[in-house]
Amino acid sequence: MVQANDFVKQWRDIGDDAHRVFEEVGASGWYVLGRSVAQFESALAIYWGLASVIGVASGLDALEISLRILGCRPGDRVLTTPLSAFATTLAILKLGAIPVFVDTDEQGLLDLDLCSGLLRRQPDIRFLLPVHLYGNPISSERLASLRDEFDLRIVEDCAQAIAATSNGKATGSVGQCGATSFYPTKNLGAMGDGGAILTNDAEFAAQARALRDYGQTAKYHHKYVGYNSRLDELQAALLHRVCLPRLDPWTQRRRAVARRYLADISNPHVRVLNVDTNAAPSWHLFPVFVRADWRDHLLMHLKVTGIGSGIHYPVAIPDQPGLAAGVFEMADECRKARALCASEISLPIHPYLTEQEVESVIQAINQWHPGS
Ligand SMILES: *Cc1c(COP(=O)(O)O)cnc(C)c1O
Repeated sequence: MVQANDFVKQWRDIGDDAHRVFEEVGASGWYVLGRSVAQFESALAIYWGLASVIGVASGLDALEISLRILGCRPGDRVLTTPLSAFATTLAILKLGAIPVFVDTDEQGLLDLDLCSGLLRRQPDIRFLLPVHLYGNPISSERLASLRDEFDLRIVEDCAQAIAATSNGKATGSVGQCGATSFYPTKNLGAMGDGGAILTNDAEFAAQARALRDYGQTAKYHHKYVGYNSRLDELQAALLHRVCLPRLDPWTQRRRAVARRYLADISNPHVRVLNVDTNAAPSWHLFPVFVRADWRDHLLMHLKVTGIGSGIHYPVAIPDQPGLAAGVFEMADECRKARALCASEISLPIHPYLTEQEVESVIQAINQWHPGS
């Protein structure tokens, strides 16, 4: 069986180091927002090339707190994508703000031309929440020019895009804030929940540090009505000392697997991502797209061949039942995003895949005939 994610193999690799970290944190006698969190934040800021990283409890919280420090208030409209983890939209809704869904392009990335047209017609919209979906970065140049033309406040959802670059720039460096997640399946995953806010702005960073801890700026002095969204020492130490040192080799391995898939998947019924020449994705996921009425057939074929797969995502966010009662707007029909929801399959891509496993995935895809 080729696993979509292989945490058992990962534990065999990191287990000894993780035990050591557990021992150290335990012996330190300090378990939430301490030295390990501060050290991890500094190390990740250097790795990412940004001034500040603020650890929080989840990627969802990182998105919500980022929007809030950029001034997003109840009733404000936020342009965003219908094709992402539900958390992207949830962050907007939790603030009482209004998601405005704009269609994606064929790669599943928010269509910035459509955004530009809408912003021209509705210049009162000030917030944008794009997602670097599958780890494939949206063009940093186009995002920056949209930001400048319309004076936008941008939170980049980098939950899938740690280490991805566009025109040599890390994701998260165009928006005033970026948000990432340390959910276990993510490229830099903890053994539990966690997330981080990324910013170059010292003022935003200070506000985020207060907001994650009940809004206090000094012990028992609450300047804001904040959150309990603290990162704990164990997760931070594990991320800093066990996972972060492995992130470069892990990313290289993901990229090598992606290169093989891109080069060797040759089934005419299977479309792969078309990646910009100046983009270096982090390959959080490796999506392929087939005709909607053939998807179940391919899913079954992969299952009987022993290959794990996923769907990211089966339902466009505005079509989720949880949004039926919610307040949101559709800038357009989001036809492309809905079509991708009906046709996407994610193939196994993780750092512990062997060459043989990669080979068997390629063979399974190339041997597939719809309807046979
Ligand atoms: C995982 C993910 C999130 C949410 O992160 P959590 O840590 O699970 O809250 C947000 N956006 C995207 C694109 C994600 O993949």
